[in-house]
Amino acid sequence: MSNYYQKEIETASREEILKIQNEKIVKQVKHVYENVPYYRNLMDKKGVKPEDIQSVDDIKKLPFLSKDDLREAYPYGLLGTDLKNCVRIQSTSGTTGKRVVAFYTQHDVDIWEECCARAIMAAGGTNEDVCQISYGYGLFTGGPGLNGGSHKVGCLTLPMSSGNTDRQLQFMMDLGATILCCTPSYAAYLGESLAERGYKPEDNKLKAGIFGAEPWTEEMRKSIEKSLGIKAYDIYGLTETSGPGVSFECEEQTGMHINEDHFYAEIIDPKTGEVLPEGTKGELVFTSLDKEGFPLLRYRTKDICILSRKKCSCGRTHVKMTKPLGRSDDMMIIRGVNVFPSQIEAVLLKEGYTPNYQIVVDRANNTDTFDIYVEFAPEQFSDKIADVQAREKALNAAMRSMLGIGPKIHLVAPKTITRSEGKAVRVIDKRKLHD
Ligand code: ADP
Ligand code: ZN
Repeated sequence: MSNYYQKEIETASREEILKIQNEKIVKQVKHVYENVPYYRNLMDKKGVKPEDIQSVDDIKKLPFLSKDDLREAYPYGLLGTDLKNCVRIQSTSGTTGKRVVAFYTQHDVDIWEECCARAIMAAGGTNEDVCQISYGYGLFTGGPGLNGGSHKVGCLTLPMSSGNTDRQLQFMMDLGATILCCTPSYAAYLGESLAERGYKPEDNKLKAGIFGAEPWTEEMRKSIEKSLGIKAYDIYGLTETSGPGVSFECEEQTGMHINEDHFYAEIIDPKTGEVLPEGTKGELVFTSLDKEGFPLLRYRTKDICILSRKKCSCGRTHVKMTKPLGRSDDMMIIRGVNVFPSQIEAVLLKEGYTPNYQIVVDRANNTDTFDIYVEFAPEQFSDKIADVQAREKALNAAMRSMLGIGPKIHLVAPKTITRSEGKAVRVIDKRKLHD
Protein backbone atom coordinates (compact mmCIF):
# COMPACT_ATOMS: atom_id res chain seq x y z
CA MET A 1 0.00 0.00 0.00
CA SER A 2 1.39 3.28 -0.99
CA ASN A 3 1.78 6.22 1.28
CA TYR A 4 0.05 9.37 0.02
CA TYR A 5 0.23 12.99 1.11
CA GLN A 6 -3.00 14.02 -0.66
CA LYS A 7 -4.63 10.72 -1.48
CA GLU A 8 -7.82 12.09 -2.96
CA ILE A 9 -6.11 14.14 -5.62
CA GLU A 10 -3.20 11.76 -6.20
CA THR A 11 -5.59 8.91 -6.96
CA ALA A 12 -8.42 10.93 -8.56
CA SER A 13 -10.04 9.51 -11.69
CA ARG A 14 -9.01 10.80 -15.09
CA GLU A 15 -12.36 12.63 -15.40
CA GLU A 16 -11.87 14.36 -12.07
CA ILE A 17 -8.38 15.49 -13.00
CA LEU A 18 -9.54 16.76 -16.37
CA LYS A 19 -12.33 18.70 -14.71
CA ILE A 20 -9.86 20.40 -12.37
CA GLN A 21 -7.44 21.11 -15.21
CA ASN A 22 -10.14 22.55 -17.46
CA GLU A 23 -11.40 24.88 -14.76
CA LYS A 24 -7.91 26.05 -13.89
CA ILE A 25 -6.67 26.65 -17.43
CA VAL A 26 -9.54 28.94 -18.41
CA LYS A 27 -8.85 31.13 -15.38
CA GLN A 28 -5.09 30.99 -15.76
CA VAL A 29 -5.01 32.02 -19.43
CA LYS A 30 -7.34 34.93 -18.77
CA HIS A 31 -5.18 35.99 -15.84
CA VAL A 32 -1.94 35.78 -17.81
CA TYR A 33 -3.42 37.66 -20.77
CA GLU A 34 -4.51 40.48 -18.52
CA ASN A 35 -1.40 40.64 -16.33
CA VAL A 36 1.61 39.59 -18.40
CA PRO A 37 2.12 41.94 -21.37
CA TYR A 38 5.01 39.87 -22.70
CA TYR A 39 2.76 36.82 -23.13
CA ARG A 40 -0.24 38.86 -24.26
CA ASN A 41 1.95 40.06 -27.12
CA LEU A 42 2.83 36.51 -28.09
CA MET A 43 -0.86 35.52 -28.01
CA ASP A 44 -1.85 38.56 -30.06
CA LYS A 45 0.82 37.76 -32.62
CA LYS A 46 -0.57 34.24 -32.91
CA GLY A 47 -4.14 35.55 -33.04
CA VAL A 48 -5.23 33.65 -29.92
CA LYS A 49 -7.65 35.22 -27.44
CA PRO A 50 -8.31 33.99 -23.90
CA GLU A 51 -11.86 32.96 -25.00
CA ASP A 52 -10.27 30.48 -27.43
CA ILE A 53 -9.07 28.42 -24.49
CA GLN A 54 -12.00 26.52 -23.03
CA SER A 55 -10.23 23.32 -21.94
CA VAL A 56 -6.78 21.75 -21.81
CA ASP A 57 -7.36 20.48 -25.37
CA ASP A 58 -7.07 24.09 -26.49
CA ILE A 59 -3.66 24.57 -24.89
CA LYS A 60 -2.06 23.55 -28.18
CA LYS A 61 -3.31 26.84 -29.66
CA LEU A 62 -1.15 28.86 -27.27
CA PRO A 63 2.33 30.13 -28.12
CA PHE A 64 5.39 28.50 -26.58
CA LEU A 65 7.76 30.09 -24.13
CA SER A 66 11.45 29.20 -24.15
CA LYS A 67 14.42 29.90 -21.96
CA ASP A 68 15.34 32.64 -24.44
CA ASP A 69 12.02 34.36 -23.68
CA LEU A 70 12.85 34.16 -19.99
CA ARG A 71 16.24 35.68 -20.61
CA GLU A 72 14.72 38.43 -22.74
CA ALA A 73 12.01 39.18 -20.20
CA TYR A 74 14.48 39.04 -17.27
CA PRO A 75 13.86 39.92 -14.52
CA TYR A 76 10.23 41.06 -14.28
CA GLY A 77 8.79 40.59 -17.77
CA LEU A 78 6.90 37.36 -17.01
CA LEU A 79 5.80 38.24 -13.53
CA GLY A 80 2.13 37.31 -13.10
CA THR A 81 1.19 39.49 -10.16
CA ASP A 82 2.26 42.59 -8.34
CA LEU A 83 5.66 42.19 -6.68
CA LYS A 84 4.12 43.06 -3.32
CA ASN A 85 2.17 39.77 -3.54
CA CYS A 86 5.37 37.75 -3.97
CA VAL A 87 7.30 36.34 -1.04
CA ARG A 88 10.21 34.50 -2.67
CA ILE A 89 12.66 34.55 -5.56
CA GLN A 90 14.62 31.49 -6.70
CA SER A 91 16.98 31.11 -9.59
CA THR A 92 18.05 28.37 -12.00
CA SER A 93 21.49 26.82 -11.57
CA GLY A 94 22.66 28.32 -14.84
CA THR A 95 23.69 24.92 -16.20
CA THR A 96 23.07 26.02 -19.79
CA GLY A 97 23.71 29.75 -19.69
CA LYS A 98 22.55 32.90 -17.99
CA ARG A 99 20.48 32.24 -14.89
CA VAL A 100 16.81 33.12 -14.90
CA VAL A 101 14.75 34.05 -11.86
CA ALA A 102 11.28 32.91 -10.80
CA PHE A 103 8.84 34.55 -8.38
CA TYR A 104 6.55 32.89 -5.84
CA THR A 105 3.53 34.04 -3.89
CA GLN A 106 2.79 32.27 -0.61
CA HIS A 107 0.25 30.16 -2.50
CA ASP A 108 2.98 29.12 -4.98
CA VAL A 109 5.35 28.16 -2.16
CA ASP A 110 2.56 26.13 -0.54
CA ILE A 111 1.73 24.12 -3.65
CA TRP A 112 5.40 23.56 -4.43
CA GLU A 113 6.02 22.24 -0.91
CA GLU A 114 2.93 20.03 -1.17
CA CYS A 115 4.32 18.53 -4.36
CA CYS A 116 7.58 17.79 -2.52
CA ALA A 117 5.63 16.31 0.38
CA ARG A 118 3.90 13.95 -2.10
CA ALA A 119 7.36 12.88 -3.31
CA ILE A 120 8.66 12.23 0.19
CA MET A 121 5.60 10.18 1.16
CA ALA A 122 5.78 8.22 -2.11
CA ALA A 123 9.31 7.28 -1.03
CA GLY A 124 7.90 5.93 2.23
CA GLY A 125 8.41 9.07 4.33
CA THR A 126 6.35 9.68 7.49
CA ASN A 127 6.60 11.89 10.57
CA GLU A 128 8.89 9.26 12.08
CA ASP A 129 11.62 9.91 9.55
CA VAL A 130 14.76 11.97 9.82
CA CYS A 131 15.14 13.65 6.46
CA GLN A 132 18.64 14.82 5.58
CA ILE A 133 18.53 17.45 2.87
CA SER A 134 21.87 17.74 1.15
CA TYR A 135 20.72 19.70 -1.89
CA GLY A 136 22.07 23.23 -1.93
CA TYR A 137 20.02 25.82 -0.07
CA GLY A 138 19.72 29.36 -1.30
CA LEU A 139 18.74 30.47 -4.78
CA PHE A 140 18.84 26.86 -6.02
CA THR A 141 15.42 25.26 -5.60
CA GLY A 142 16.60 21.83 -4.40
CA GLY A 143 17.18 22.63 -0.72
CA PRO A 144 14.22 24.96 -0.07
CA GLY A 145 11.75 22.75 -1.98
CA LEU A 146 12.52 19.50 -0.21
CA ASN A 147 12.89 21.33 3.10
CA GLY A 148 9.32 22.60 2.79
CA GLY A 149 8.05 19.18 1.75
CA SER A 150 9.81 17.51 4.65
CA HIS A 151 8.16 19.92 7.12
CA LYS A 152 4.75 19.27 5.60
CA VAL A 153 5.20 15.51 6.04
CA GLY A 154 6.38 16.15 9.59
CA CYS A 155 9.80 14.57 9.18
CA LEU A 156 12.56 15.70 11.49
CA THR A 157 14.37 17.85 8.95
CA LEU A 158 18.15 18.12 8.78
CA PRO A 159 18.87 21.14 6.56
CA MET A 160 22.47 20.21 5.72
CA SER A 161 22.74 21.92 2.33
CA SER A 162 25.50 20.58 0.06
CA GLY A 163 29.21 20.32 0.79
CA ASN A 164 31.28 19.57 3.86
CA THR A 165 31.13 15.84 3.36
CA ASP A 166 32.64 14.97 6.75
CA ARG A 167 29.89 16.82 8.56
CA GLN A 168 27.26 15.27 6.28
CA LEU A 169 28.41 11.79 7.23
CA GLN A 170 28.80 12.57 10.91
CA PHE A 171 25.23 13.90 11.20
CA MET A 172 23.85 11.15 9.00
CA MET A 173 25.28 8.56 11.40
CA ASP A 174 24.89 10.41 14.73
CA LEU A 175 21.34 11.60 14.11
CA GLY A 176 20.17 8.49 12.29
CA ALA A 177 19.01 10.01 9.01
CA THR A 178 16.49 7.71 7.32
CA ILE A 179 15.87 9.66 4.10
CA LEU A 180 18.55 11.39 2.05
CA CYS A 181 17.76 14.09 -0.51
CA CYS A 182 20.51 15.32 -2.85
CA THR A 183 21.75 15.06 -6.42
CA PRO A 184 22.49 11.47 -7.53
CA SER A 185 26.13 12.37 -8.13
CA TYR A 186 26.44 13.63 -4.56
CA ALA A 187 24.66 10.52 -3.25
CA ALA A 188 27.24 8.39 -5.06
CA TYR A 189 30.01 10.43 -3.48
CA LEU A 190 28.49 10.10 0.00
CA GLY A 191 28.23 6.33 -0.52
CA GLU A 192 31.84 6.14 -1.60
CA SER A 193 32.94 8.30 1.35
CA LEU A 194 31.11 6.11 3.87
CA ALA A 195 32.85 3.02 2.50
CA GLU A 196 36.22 4.77 2.73
CA ARG A 197 35.58 5.44 6.39
CA GLY A 198 35.02 1.76 6.95
CA TYR A 199 31.20 1.75 7.10
CA LYS A 200 29.14 -0.99 5.45
CA PRO A 201 25.83 -0.10 3.76
CA GLU A 202 23.89 -1.66 6.65
CA ASP A 203 25.64 0.54 9.22
CA ASN A 204 23.55 3.59 8.36
CA LYS A 205 19.83 4.00 9.10
CA LEU A 206 18.92 5.31 5.66
CA LYS A 207 16.00 3.57 3.95
CA ALA A 208 15.33 5.83 0.98
CA GLY A 209 16.91 8.53 -1.12
CA ILE A 210 15.18 11.18 -3.22
CA PHE A 211 17.57 12.16 -5.95
CA GLY A 212 17.21 14.50 -8.89
CA ALA A 213 18.18 17.82 -10.47
CA GLU A 214 20.41 16.09 -13.02
CA PRO A 215 20.17 13.11 -15.37
CA TRP A 216 21.10 9.71 -13.95
CA THR A 217 20.83 6.23 -15.34
CA GLU A 218 19.27 3.00 -14.03
CA GLU A 219 22.81 1.68 -13.59
CA MET A 220 23.60 4.68 -11.39
CA ARG A 221 20.45 3.95 -9.38
CA LYS A 222 21.59 0.37 -8.73
CA SER A 223 25.05 1.51 -7.77
CA ILE A 224 23.74 4.10 -5.24
CA GLU A 225 21.16 1.66 -3.84
CA LYS A 226 23.94 -0.83 -3.20
CA SER A 227 26.45 1.57 -1.70
CA LEU A 228 23.98 3.20 0.71
CA GLY A 229 21.72 0.18 1.27
CA ILE A 230 18.56 2.10 0.29
CA LYS A 231 15.83 2.39 -2.30
CA ALA A 232 16.60 5.36 -4.59
CA TYR A 233 13.72 7.44 -5.97
CA ASP A 234 13.89 9.95 -8.79
CA ILE A 235 12.45 13.45 -8.50
CA TYR A 236 12.22 16.01 -11.28
CA GLY A 237 11.52 19.68 -11.60
CA LEU A 238 12.81 22.99 -12.79
CA THR A 239 12.91 26.46 -11.35
CA GLU A 240 10.69 27.81 -14.13
CA THR A 241 7.79 25.59 -13.00
CA SER A 242 8.61 25.90 -9.24
CA GLY A 243 11.45 23.46 -8.53
CA PRO A 244 11.76 19.77 -7.59
CA GLY A 245 8.49 17.91 -7.17
CA VAL A 246 6.88 18.68 -10.52
CA SER A 247 7.08 14.90 -10.83
CA PHE A 248 8.29 12.13 -8.56
CA GLU A 249 8.72 8.40 -8.44
CA CYS A 250 6.58 5.94 -6.51
CA GLU A 251 7.57 2.47 -5.31
CA GLU A 252 7.10 1.02 -8.80
CA GLN A 253 10.17 3.00 -9.93
CA THR A 254 9.05 3.04 -13.54
CA GLY A 255 8.83 6.74 -14.22
CA MET A 256 7.70 9.83 -12.33
CA HIS A 257 4.08 10.87 -11.71
CA ILE A 258 3.54 14.46 -12.85
CA ASN A 259 1.40 16.49 -10.43
CA GLU A 260 -1.34 17.03 -12.99
CA ASP A 261 -3.55 19.13 -10.77
CA HIS A 262 -0.85 21.82 -11.01
CA PHE A 263 1.02 21.14 -14.25
CA TYR A 264 -0.25 20.21 -17.68
CA ALA A 265 2.34 18.27 -19.67
CA GLU A 266 2.74 17.90 -23.42
CA ILE A 267 5.36 16.19 -25.54
CA ILE A 268 6.28 17.99 -28.74
CA ASP A 269 8.53 17.44 -31.68
CA PRO A 270 11.43 19.76 -30.79
CA LYS A 271 11.94 20.69 -34.45
CA THR A 272 8.37 21.42 -35.56
CA GLY A 273 6.60 22.15 -32.27
CA GLU A 274 3.90 19.62 -33.19
CA VAL A 275 2.23 17.86 -30.24
CA LEU A 276 3.08 14.15 -30.27
CA PRO A 277 0.87 11.28 -29.10
CA GLU A 278 1.37 9.57 -25.75
CA GLY A 279 4.23 7.10 -25.82
CA THR A 280 6.32 9.11 -28.27
CA LYS A 281 9.69 10.50 -27.33
CA GLY A 282 10.00 14.28 -27.55
CA GLU A 283 10.47 17.55 -25.69
CA LEU A 284 8.52 18.06 -22.52
CA VAL A 285 6.41 21.23 -22.33
CA PHE A 286 4.71 22.45 -19.13
CA THR A 287 1.81 24.75 -18.51
CA SER A 288 1.45 25.84 -14.94
CA LEU A 289 -2.25 25.69 -14.11
CA ASP A 290 -2.41 27.68 -10.91
CA LYS A 291 0.87 29.43 -10.15
CA GLU A 292 0.47 33.14 -9.48
CA GLY A 293 3.94 34.67 -9.31
CA PHE A 294 5.47 33.08 -12.40
CA PRO A 295 2.63 31.52 -14.39
CA LEU A 296 4.40 30.12 -17.43
CA LEU A 297 2.22 28.73 -20.21
CA ARG A 298 3.63 26.15 -22.65
CA TYR A 299 7.17 26.38 -21.34
CA ARG A 300 9.62 24.33 -23.39
CA THR A 301 11.89 22.49 -20.96
CA LYS A 302 14.33 21.09 -23.54
CA ASP A 303 14.16 17.84 -21.56
CA ILE A 304 13.57 14.79 -23.72
CA CYS A 305 11.28 12.06 -22.39
CA ILE A 306 8.15 9.95 -22.94
CA LEU A 307 4.76 10.20 -21.18
CA SER A 308 2.72 7.15 -20.21
CA ARG A 309 -0.76 6.66 -18.80
CA LYS A 310 -0.25 2.97 -18.11
CA LYS A 311 -1.96 2.01 -14.85
CA CYS A 312 0.45 2.21 -11.93
CA SER A 313 0.44 -0.32 -9.10
CA CYS A 314 0.85 2.45 -6.50
CA GLY A 315 -2.71 3.63 -7.12
CA ARG A 316 -1.70 7.07 -8.35
CA THR A 317 -3.45 8.11 -11.51
CA HIS A 318 -1.32 11.01 -12.66
CA VAL A 319 0.56 10.59 -15.93
CA LYS A 320 4.13 9.35 -15.70
CA MET A 321 7.22 10.65 -17.47
CA THR A 322 10.30 8.56 -18.10
CA LYS A 323 13.61 9.74 -16.73
CA PRO A 324 14.70 12.54 -19.02
CA LEU A 325 17.22 11.10 -21.41
CA GLY A 326 19.07 14.34 -20.91
CA ARG A 327 18.46 17.80 -22.22
CA SER A 328 18.33 18.37 -25.93
CA ASP A 329 21.24 20.71 -25.07
CA ASP A 330 23.22 17.82 -23.59
CA MET A 331 23.16 15.82 -26.76
CA MET A 332 26.56 15.97 -28.42
CA ILE A 333 27.00 15.44 -32.10
CA ILE A 334 30.38 13.81 -32.42
CA ARG A 335 31.58 12.96 -35.90
CA GLY A 336 27.98 13.16 -37.02
CA VAL A 337 26.68 10.73 -34.38
CA ASN A 338 24.22 11.77 -31.62
CA VAL A 339 25.65 10.94 -28.20
CA PHE A 340 24.04 11.47 -24.79
CA PRO A 341 26.22 11.45 -21.65
CA SER A 342 23.68 9.09 -20.06
CA GLN A 343 24.53 6.39 -22.63
CA ILE A 344 28.17 6.66 -21.63
CA GLU A 345 27.32 6.44 -17.94
CA ALA A 346 25.26 3.31 -18.55
CA VAL A 347 28.15 1.54 -20.32
CA LEU A 348 30.71 2.53 -17.68
CA LEU A 349 28.65 1.23 -14.78
CA LYS A 350 27.68 -1.96 -16.63
CA GLU A 351 31.37 -2.63 -17.20
CA GLY A 352 32.07 -2.31 -13.48
CA TYR A 353 33.49 1.21 -13.30
CA THR A 354 32.52 3.90 -10.78
CA PRO A 355 30.34 6.86 -11.79
CA ASN A 356 33.38 9.10 -11.77
CA TYR A 357 34.04 10.16 -15.33
CA GLN A 358 34.44 13.11 -17.60
CA ILE A 359 33.86 13.43 -21.31
CA VAL A 360 36.05 15.77 -23.35
CA VAL A 361 35.17 16.66 -26.91
CA ASP A 362 37.41 18.82 -29.07
CA ARG A 363 38.36 19.35 -32.69
CA ALA A 364 41.72 18.61 -34.30
CA ASN A 365 42.45 18.74 -38.04
CA ASN A 366 38.76 19.32 -38.75
CA THR A 367 37.74 16.10 -37.02
CA ASP A 368 36.07 15.74 -33.65
CA THR A 369 38.12 14.17 -30.92
CA PHE A 370 36.27 12.22 -28.25
CA ASP A 371 37.95 11.28 -24.97
CA ILE A 372 36.55 9.69 -21.84
CA TYR A 373 38.43 9.88 -18.58
CA VAL A 374 37.28 7.28 -16.11
CA GLU A 375 38.60 6.12 -12.80
CA PHE A 376 39.52 2.58 -12.01
CA ALA A 377 37.38 1.19 -9.24
CA PRO A 378 39.80 0.77 -6.29
CA GLU A 379 39.76 -3.05 -6.62
CA GLN A 380 40.57 -2.86 -10.35
CA PHE A 381 43.58 -0.63 -9.96
CA SER A 382 46.69 -1.79 -11.75
CA ASP A 383 49.88 -0.06 -12.81
CA LYS A 384 50.80 -2.75 -15.35
CA ILE A 385 50.66 -1.19 -18.79
CA ALA A 386 49.35 -4.35 -20.44
CA ASP A 387 46.43 -4.56 -17.98
CA VAL A 388 45.54 -0.93 -18.48
CA GLN A 389 45.68 -1.23 -22.25
CA ALA A 390 43.51 -4.34 -22.26
CA ARG A 391 40.89 -2.63 -20.11
CA GLU A 392 40.92 0.51 -22.23
CA LYS A 393 40.48 -1.58 -25.36
CA ALA A 394 37.55 -3.50 -23.89
CA LEU A 395 35.84 -0.31 -22.78
CA ASN A 396 36.39 1.28 -26.17
CA ALA A 397 34.67 -1.73 -27.79
CA ALA A 398 31.73 -1.57 -25.36
CA MET A 399 31.31 2.15 -26.08
CA ARG A 400 31.54 1.59 -29.81
CA SER A 401 28.78 -0.98 -29.73
CA MET A 402 26.51 1.32 -27.69
CA LEU A 403 27.24 4.62 -29.43
CA GLY A 404 28.33 3.70 -32.91
CA ILE A 405 31.64 5.51 -32.46
CA GLY A 406 34.65 4.70 -30.32
CA PRO A 407 36.06 7.22 -27.84
CA LYS A 408 39.63 7.24 -26.65
CA ILE A 409 39.52 5.84 -23.14
CA HIS A 410 41.86 7.08 -20.43
CA LEU A 411 41.82 5.06 -17.24
CA VAL A 412 42.98 7.18 -14.35
CA ALA A 413 43.78 6.42 -10.72
CA PRO A 414 40.93 6.33 -8.17
CA LYS A 415 40.01 9.74 -6.68
CA THR A 416 41.55 11.82 -9.45
CA ILE A 417 38.30 13.09 -10.98
CA THR A 418 36.67 15.92 -9.04
CA ARG A 419 33.56 14.82 -7.09
CA SER A 420 30.35 16.79 -7.37
CA GLU A 421 28.41 18.19 -4.43
CA GLY A 422 25.62 19.52 -6.65
CA LYS A 423 25.03 19.05 -10.34
CA ALA A 424 27.96 17.12 -11.84
CA VAL A 425 29.81 18.54 -14.82
CA ARG A 426 30.22 15.52 -17.08
CA VAL A 427 31.04 17.09 -20.41
CA ILE A 428 33.73 19.51 -21.48
CA ASP A 429 33.09 20.49 -25.07
CA LYS A 430 36.07 22.53 -26.21
CA ARG A 431 34.82 22.74 -29.80
CA LYS A 432 32.78 25.78 -28.85
CA LEU A 433 36.04 27.66 -28.29
CA HIS A 434 36.95 27.27 -31.96
CA ASP A 435 33.58 28.40 -33.36
P1 ADP B 1 19.29 24.70 -14.77
O1 ADP B 1 18.38 24.52 -15.95
O2 ADP B 1 20.11 25.95 -14.86
O3 ADP B 1 20.09 23.49 -14.40
P2 ADP B 1 17.43 24.11 -12.62
O4 ADP B 1 18.21 24.01 -11.36
O5 ADP B 1 16.10 24.73 -12.56
O6 ADP B 1 18.30 24.98 -13.59
O7 ADP B 1 17.36 22.66 -13.24
C1 ADP B 1 16.29 22.12 -13.96
C2 ADP B 1 16.78 21.11 -14.95
O8 ADP B 1 17.50 20.06 -14.28
C3 ADP B 1 15.68 20.39 -15.69
O9 ADP B 1 15.22 21.12 -16.80
C4 ADP B 1 16.38 19.10 -16.12
O10 ADP B 1 17.17 19.28 -17.28
C5 ADP B 1 17.31 18.82 -14.97
N1 ADP B 1 16.69 17.83 -14.05
C6 ADP B 1 15.99 18.08 -12.94
N2 ADP B 1 15.59 16.92 -12.35
C7 ADP B 1 16.03 15.92 -13.13
C8 ADP B 1 15.94 14.48 -13.07
N3 ADP B 1 15.33 13.85 -12.09
N4 ADP B 1 16.50 13.79 -14.08
C9 ADP B 1 17.13 14.41 -15.10
N5 ADP B 1 17.27 15.73 -15.21
C10 ADP B 1 16.73 16.49 -14.24
ZN1 ZN C 1 2.95 4.97 -9.20
